[in-house]
Amino acid sequence: MAKFIVPKEIFHGLGSLENLKEIKGKKAVVVTGGSSVKKNGSLGNTIAYLKEANIESAVFEGVEADPSIETVLRGAEFFKQEQPDVIIGLGGCSAIDAAKAMWVYYEYPDSKLEDLAAPFAVKPLRNKAVFVAIPSTSGTGTEVTGLSVITDREKGTKYPIVSHELTPDIAIIDGDLCKSMPKNVTANTGLDALSHGVEAYVSNIADRYNDALAKDAISLVFKNLPTVVENPDNTEVRQAMHDASCMAGMAFTNVWLGIVHSMSHQVGGTFGVPHGCANAILMPNVIRYNASATDKYNDLAALFGKKTAEDFATEVEKLRTQVGVAPSFKEAGVDEKAWEEKLDTMVENALNDPCTLFNPKKPTASEIKAIYRACFNGVAYAE
Ligand SMILES: [Zn+2]
Repeated sequence: MAKFIVPKEIFHGLGSLENLKEIKGKKAVVVTGGSSVKKNGSLGNTIAYLKEANIESAVFEGVEADPSIETVLRGAEFFKQEQPDVIIGLGGCSAIDAAKAMWVYYEYPDSKLEDLAAPFAVKPLRNKAVFVAIPSTSGTGTEVTGLSVITDREKGTKYPIVSHELTPDIAIIDGDLCKSMPKNVTANTGLDALSHGVEAYVSNIADRYNDALAKDAISLVFKNLPTVVENPDNTEVRQAMHDASCMAGMAFTNVWLGIVHSMSHQVGGTFGVPHGCANAILMPNVIRYNASATDKYNDLAALFGKKTAEDFATEVEKLRTQVGVAPSFKEAGVDEKAWEEKLDTMVENALNDPCTLFNPKKPTASEIKAIYRACFNGVAYAE
């Protein structure tokens, strides 16, 4: 038995932002990072469409990358003043994640971040407002997931808040909003979307509903990512990547991820390697490691007319090179001495990461260490 949870409404396609004209409400707060959505006009358009729906808006801007609990609390205070019945997260993953957490604090002002980080601790939402997510990057899929990651900078810890309560009510997947995404962000976030598809597809709780979404997302990324990195103004291709990211998001919010993410969270947190880049370095070797436990990579190799997990791992490496992402942590700029010093801690934390529970093969510490070492040096993992 399983359950499949996604937003009630997903508007998609170029120009689909216009669907804001149809939504119901009195007062909206738009939460955003700021500059890029202002520059490309999507913030202005959002406010104008809301006005056509007779919804008044207020804007909370300036959400930083890796949003902090302080920002979340400031946002919740702003919500308290403005009393919105519609919350709109507009922008990159950080803006949407922050808006989700602000929503929790708006509805439950006495919440504590440490408590919310316990699995499924969020109480029922939607007593005060509904949530609309409008992403302007194509990667995390946060517009359809029950996940928000908030950072406590004082403690130096990231808290993932996980609950289907956080799944937005409405998602708008409009590729026009992605035009201003820089080349390296396009490549990294696109590879993050690919890793969501691949990890969801081989998850140990995968099912055919999520397989269909994951597999098509994977094929969309392979077909479109090199083109969009070369031609950033091609909005049709931007839309295809935006759809891929959303579809991979729908799959992974239901069947979770595996050790690419467990291991990447550590490399990102310790050395600041961008999430999608770290995933792309880890993915081929995790495929080689997992291959003995699942034959599902063979289906993915078949997308290229090939047969084995090794064939698929090689295709991921080819794509990574094609879009200009480093093949190893060494080449991504991580210092070898610092790496060796942190390695044991990273191994331990990766083993304890919740994503490890859904990996098709249960790893040992020495196996994780061997995968990390191979990925540091850019060599193929072998048992
Ligand atoms: Zn990811």
